[in-house]
Amino acid sequence: MQTVDVLVIGAGFAGLRALYRFRGLGYKVKVLEASEDVGGVWYHNGYPGARCDVESYDYSYSFSPELEQEWRWSERYATQPEILRYINHVAERFDLRRDIQFNTRMTNATYDEASARWVIETEGGETFDTQFFMMCVGQLSTPKSPNYPGLSDYKGEVIHSGKWPKHEVTYEGKRVAIIGTGSSGMQMTPVIAKYAKHLTVFQRTPNYSIPAANAPVTDEEDAQVKAHYRERRDRAWNSATGLGFMPNKTSALDVTPEEREKAYEAAWNRLGFGFALTYYDILLNKQANDTAADFIRRKIASVVNDPVVREKLLPRNHAFAARRPSVDSGYFQAFNRDNVELADLLESPIVEFTHEGIRTSAKNHVFDMIIFATGFDVFTGSLFKPNIIGRGGITLKQKWSDGPVTHLGVGVSDFPNMFIVVGPGSPSLLSNVMVSTEEQIDWMAAFVEHMKANKQAVFEVQHDAEKEWGHHINERVKETLYLSTDSYYNGAEVKGKPRVFMPYSGGVRGYRRILHKCAAEGYTGFSFAANAAWLEKV
Ligand code: NAP
Repeated sequence: MQTVDVLVIGAGFAGLRALYRFRGLGYKVKVLEASEDVGGVWYHNGYPGARCDVESYDYSYSFSPELEQEWRWSERYATQPEILRYINHVAERFDLRRDIQFNTRMTNATYDEASARWVIETEGGETFDTQFFMMCVGQLSTPKSPNYPGLSDYKGEVIHSGKWPKHEVTYEGKRVAIIGTGSSGMQMTPVIAKYAKHLTVFQRTPNYSIPAANAPVTDEEDAQVKAHYRERRDRAWNSATGLGFMPNKTSALDVTPEEREKAYEAAWNRLGFGFALTYYDILLNKQANDTAADFIRRKIASVVNDPVVREKLLPRNHAFAARRPSVDSGYFQAFNRDNVELADLLESPIVEFTHEGIRTSAKNHVFDMIIFATGFDVFTGSLFKPNIIGRGGITLKQKWSDGPVTHLGVGVSDFPNMFIVVGPGSPSLLSNVMVSTEEQIDWMAAFVEHMKANKQAVFEVQHDAEKEWGHHINERVKETLYLSTDSYYNGAEVKGKPRVFMPYSGGVRGYRRILHKCAAEGYTGFSFAANAAWLEKV
């Protein structure tokens, strides 16, 4: 049995950051990673066209000014290989690999009440004993593949976007299917279209997307960002989304249609996700949202030649950004190619897979390769994979059977000394997740330092605090349009999943203030104890 102070699960952006921070404070840290290398989702999502839809300079660590200065991003939105190179660079530069154990999947984590420590077990039969236990497993890390009848009969290659093979995948001369039109499907479509003999995109829900306006980063731009990096970070930390866009105080309904058109046009060509912030109420008011949605539909329509395909691609059944929109590079234009076909699943659903392809209610399709871009079991998928057993033998799955409950998205009652990073209850997927990750981990490190200074060994979330935070999450989301549609924000992506809104919609800046207030007031909502004996009394 190995004994550590902090055991971290996952070696993606969050796990590496946690290792760096806690090791820097003198704690003995170990990271367990199921895969063979660092990178988390950026290791696994190697599909063609994969790139980040947050600008490179903002989707990067802020903890080291030296790292900021020496790393040179080549494009405004970095590709997956470049992000993976960055993660590897960080791992090398800060000598992180020596505390990461690869090819090691945690299967069980059990809180031992007598010692007030966690016992972590792995698939390979190893055991770790740790005081603190941190889940850094991401939110989009458990791929979800539909289980169509006949799937196992299909003889061609089947690939999931979130578990892209490490061997080279070629498309030349092949008939390829992509199922799913979220960010992953939309990103890979124009790239695969260039090489495949024929590409069929199976769409269930038409999705909004904004052009990436990607471009190479010039030396001048790089120097400019690096000369003012702190100010840029400050803007990100103090913005609602962590993307650095400052709140626009104007309502979309308080300007003339001409003014609005001009503002949308400017944002469309320049801002990526920032488009959603052209007016402050786009995500708050349906009428305001309609103005943005209508603009996007007109933009989509303007680049698709075929009138029937065009109509099918227009998102109409949900408010813009109430589900995660995409940022694309030529998705809609790809349907103008002779070798690309749109298969509308609402019109003609999939009946079954056959040995040679897919049969829909309309026709028999023959494919050499089928790609599932069907998303993930979001937020809780990877938290439920291992068996996490808290106080009194309760499992995390049981505890969250009606949906996740947390205090501040940081910890869960009955699971003492367990942290969850950028999971449910935190801004997470509603923010630049890089900003939220660093914010939470630094806060957790200060929290543990506070415990040490006060000679406390155990923390636990108070039940009332957890209830209150859940109430606050629900109150904040009611101000928005997020509840107006099904999405993975509210558990609709997996049949039978509790339908609760999982991330915190109050914004990065607001969340940050709440975390800081909690700390300033002596970590309200948490109980502390010097040893396990107190547990009897709580
Ligand atoms: P996703 O957004 O959940 O999209 C999944 C797609 O598959 C949807 O179009 C969905 O249709 C469809 N689908 C699911 N089950 C299906 C079924 N049984 N039959 C037919 N279609 C089905 O997943 P994703 O595209 O992988 O993206 C997930 C998230 O990862 C993104 O929202 C984003 O947060 C992140 N991401 C980011 C980037 C980036 O930074 N650029 C890139 C990729 C992903 P319905 O809508 O009808 O359910």
